[in-house]
Amino acid sequence: MTKKGRVFSGARPTGRQHLGNYMGAIQNYVALQGEYDCIYCIVDLHALTTLETTLDLKQNTYEMALDWLAAGIRPEESIIFIQSHVPQVTELHTILSMVTPLGKLTDLPTFKDKVREQPHNVNYGLLGYPVLMTADIVLYKAGAVPVGVDQAPHLEFARETVRSFNYHYNTNVLIEPQMKVTQVPKVIGIDGQQKMSKSLNNHIELASTAKETEQRVMQMVTDPQRQRRSDPGNPDICNVFAFHKVFSSPEEVATVNTECRRAGIGCVDCKRMMARNLNQHLEPFRERRQQIAGNPDQVWAILDDGAQRARAIAEATMQEVRAAVGLA
Ligand code: SF4
Repeated sequence: MTKKGRVFSGARPTGRQHLGNYMGAIQNYVALQGEYDCIYCIVDLHALTTLETTLDLKQNTYEMALDWLAAGIRPEESIIFIQSHVPQVTELHTILSMVTPLGKLTDLPTFKDKVREQPHNVNYGLLGYPVLMTADIVLYKAGAVPVGVDQAPHLEFARETVRSFNYHYNTNVLIEPQMKVTQVPKVIGIDGQQKMSKSLNNHIELASTAKETEQRVMQMVTDPQRQRRSDPGNPDICNVFAFHKVFSSPEEVATVNTECRRAGIGCVDCKRMMARNLNQHLEPFRERRQQIAGNPDQVWAILDDGAQRARAIAEATMQEVRAAVGLA
């Protein structure tokens, strides 16, 4: 089947992935493979901008790759690799930084957020983050980048940088990436309040056992109006119901929707039902993960092979870039 073009996406190595990562990105990565030539990158250099220690970096990279593969990213079809294994990206980052006004970087809301979050470590990497991200995308001449609406400004930055480069060096070697806006569901953690995240410890890991998963589900915060079993609830404001909508059958969703409102079902039973369905959904993933984890060398070999294929594309782009700039 002829594919529609090339897609690039990168994610920081955060170790074992959770349901938020899965529903927000990984499922989409897997689906895109049918339509596009996909390049998926584990952006370890970007991770350096915020890490206090890099002791777990390699292990986190491995665990994330393992989850991606177990979830269905097909290395024989897509390129999956580690950012730092393609050094051309740092060269392009430097060159692009010459056409990036400093004020534009300091004005970016994401930079200001980071300064607030880690005032003790406002490093240059944080400032140059969007330039490195642009280098990632354009190095592989990706026509499309899947982004959630909240990431749209980053891609607009990349597009402007490409225009500046092409104008400045009177060339057209770099391609303006198009946004492929995807509906990224905001997955709320088990606290029922905040976005699911490891740092908030409100997450459910994909690789957890069925028992651990059920335990986490049983801790989920529900509609606070249901103090007693006999209190009617409102599923529309309950996070458990949001998960039912993803992992349960339409009939079960309809039942919970009706029975919760008239206290016909208790939260414990409701959560058990959801945990069972979630576990059923994750079972094939867990089996594949266990199988792949039995041979860690193979995971590293897949990442090496991906880097080799990525380097070939990157070097071809850099030869054009160097020629356009006058460096070759
Ligand atoms: Fe939430 Fe289910 Fe309890 Fe209703 S019955 S409040 S949907 S956990």
